[in-house]
Amino acid sequence: MSSHAPPGSPGHPRLAPDDGYRGIFEASGDAIFVHDPATFAVTDANRRARELTGATLDELRANGLAYIAAVEPFTLERARAHLRRAAAGEPQRFEWRMRAAGSDAPRWVEVTIERVALRGADRLLALVRDFDARKVAEEALRASREELRAANEALERRVAERTAELREREAQLEESQRLARLGAWTWDAATGAVGWDAALCAALGVRADQAPRDLDAFLALLHDDDRERIAATVTRALTHRTPYAYDARFVLPDGRVRHVHGRGRLVFGADGAPTGMVGTAQDVTERREAELRLAEREAYYRSLIENTSDLVTFADAAGVVRYHSPSLTRMLGYPPESHVGSTSFDIIHRDDAVATRAAFAALVANPGKTGVLVYRLRHADGSWRTVESMARTVDPHSADAGIVINTRDVTDRKLAEEALARAKEDAERANRAKSEFLSRMSHELRTPMNSILGFGQLLARAQLPPSHAKGVGHIVSAGRHLLHLINEVLEISRIEAGRESFALEPVALAPAVQEALGLVRPLAQQHGVTLGDFGPDDAGGREAFVVADRRRLVQVLLNLLANAIKYNRPGGAVRVRGAPAADGGWALRVEDTGRGIPADRVGELFTPFARLGAETTDVEGTGLGLALSQRLCEAMGGALALESSGPAGSVFRVDLGAAPHPMGRGEEAARPPAPADVGGEATLLYVEDNLANLTLVEAILMSRPGWRIIPALQGQLGVELAREHLPDLVLLDLHLPDIPGAEVLRRLRADPRTAAIPVVVVSADATPASLERLRRAGADAYLTKPLDVDEFLAVVQRHLPARAT
Ligand code: ADP
Repeated sequence: MSSHAPPGSPGHPRLAPDDGYRGIFEASGDAIFVHDPATFAVTDANRRARELTGATLDELRANGLAYIAAVEPFTLERARAHLRRAAAGEPQRFEWRMRAAGSDAPRWVEVTIERVALRGADRLLALVRDFDARKVAEEALRASREELRAANEALERRVAERTAELREREAQLEESQRLARLGAWTWDAATGAVGWDAALCAALGVRADQAPRDLDAFLALLHDDDRERIAATVTRALTHRTPYAYDARFVLPDGRVRHVHGRGRLVFGADGAPTGMVGTAQDVTERREAELRLAEREAYYRSLIENTSDLVTFADAAGVVRYHSPSLTRMLGYPPESHVGSTSFDIIHRDDAVATRAAFAALVANPGKTGVLVYRLRHADGSWRTVESMARTVDPHSADAGIVINTRDVTDRKLAEEALARAKEDAERANRAKSEFLSRMSHELRTPMNSILGFGQLLARAQLPPSHAKGVGHIVSAGRHLLHLINEVLEISRIEAGRESFALEPVALAPAVQEALGLVRPLAQQHGVTLGDFGPDDAGGREAFVVADRRRLVQVLLNLLANAIKYNRPGGAVRVRGAPAADGGWALRVEDTGRGIPADRVGELFTPFARLGAETTDVEGTGLGLALSQRLCEAMGGALALESSGPAGSVFRVDLGAAPHPMGRGEEAARPPAPADVGGEATLLYVEDNLANLTLVEAILMSRPGWRIIPALQGQLGVELAREHLPDLVLLDLHLPDIPGAEVLRRLRADPRTAAIPVVVVSADATPASLERLRRAGADAYLTKPLDVDEFLAVVQRHLPARAT
């Protein structure tokens, strides 16, 4: 990103316009001053800036530059010059001294000034980094180096000019030089003689008689790898007549390797021609070795960072990139230096910008915590790459030391995930389409079924020759079977198409099981099967509540219990047990002592229409009950499975999620189970086009063996069947395909034959006003859907003539 671009251009550094960035601004370890580019007045300053100057924001706004430029020679004039250049589009970076609050001496700071567009306004942004401590240390280091250099040079001069005097004080010098590991040497051009003084011998631990006497001997002492380089250095110095310095390894006669820092210069004769050289040499082995070790470690870490396929980024707390590892090129096509000094936010996808800034702010706010973020970055070729970054502050207690970010390209992983999700969605869509088709088809089948069943039943009432009556009987019973099939296919496909709605709520377990048991008791008696009781203690007492649709839960239990009875043996037993499941929910087990399910066919269980051999027996069924029950359980967030099966019987297990005890619903658990057997005969006409409701009512009436139900799937058919059969009671749905339920009621009341028949309205959505109208039109009672079985039985019973109950 170029900082030289004019404000507002795409390449210009932008500050985020949201408060997240304001937070970074405030919390930044750098002091940040925002200046007006025309007047240079301070318009804003962050906390660090106020701390540094000891001034309030208002004081800074009024007279900001006076706080910043008050130390000679870092004057107002110079400050303005920097600001002016920055305003002209030339970013500034310079060192500066200023008075800081709370310290006597002026402090060194490093300042960068850039021109930026801030919420559209043109501003100069000055980042002031306090580096006084570093500067002081650097100063001290520089001073000591300077001193050493000066000392070396002074020494050289003295060696050259006053060798004699030097010799006199050799003894003392030797000692001090030995400590400094510094010695002197000479080379005479005329004789070629090399001389090492005693200090040099001592510094390197060489006996005086082993010191080199000529240039060749000196060169021979050098490490093989260094010899050529040093010879070249000396030659160059001779030709250019310049002083020189070198670092080389000496291999001493005893085999030790020493690192030596040497300096040399030419000595000239009176005629100006070189007569030889003098110099110093210093044993720097320890220092060199320490440096080498450091460099090796550095190189190790560097190679670690540079060789990881991850992009490693080091950014300061303001988000300015200080380092990008070379992977930047491989991953995003930019040279590693390209974004150093900028925030990189400009290559982040716009839709990810807010999240990225928020994540960065969170990192700065929570030093030591690792943040992970997936977002998109623009590749140099313009494409977008999805990356995953993990980042944390270098210092676990503060963001000031910067933030290390490891970034990985996860585009392929993301694409694969998306492709998988798409494939899954396609498959689900296809499945839904299939279910949708089945649902529609089943629905359409009901219209002709209405006629077949309705007129079949009418015919059955007529006086027919016995052979015809038998045929009509077949038509009606086959029609009923077909209706049953259609019901279940419709319900299964509706669940699969997601069109069946479930009222999931806390349901008291024990009463629901008791209700189902009550409903199948007559069937059990018919088959000579003992049905076990189920008390509250069999399911955790009154506290056991499950997440379910109560009506559907009873439907599932009815299915399982009916199977357990139907496929049992005479004298067999069926019971239901409840127990907390491992996952915190509830498990209900329906156990029978039947013939079991053949092991090799267990896999077909729950498959629609699979009757596993039962089709060859006279046990009636459609092969849809288990498939439907399993889907019902799943739709309620639970599961249905065969837990075990063998010659001694089978155990089916229903799993449901546990629900908390709903306040004020206690009476539900306390409600007594439905009375088990009720005598009396009655004919009920149920005018209802919804097959699921019809099936449920049929199932409920299994507990009333003497009650016969006549279904009418259309309103007018209902009126006709009522006239024909004169039922004891009419159950009337309000939404019918041909005429409204209210009209059916009117026609029933208008006909003297049916005017007195009790009518119970069954509806899910009648308003109080419409109920009042129905009551005035002659309705006797009203039941809401979903039906509550106890209430249903009680209401029906109340309105039946005495002989029927
Ligand atoms: P249906 O009972 O209408 O045939 P289901 O879907 O309820 O259909 O059951 C499928 C088949 O599984 C049954 O036909 C029967 O062969 C077998 N089955 C179900 N429950 C039991 C059981 N408790 N014991 C033995 N076999 C069973």
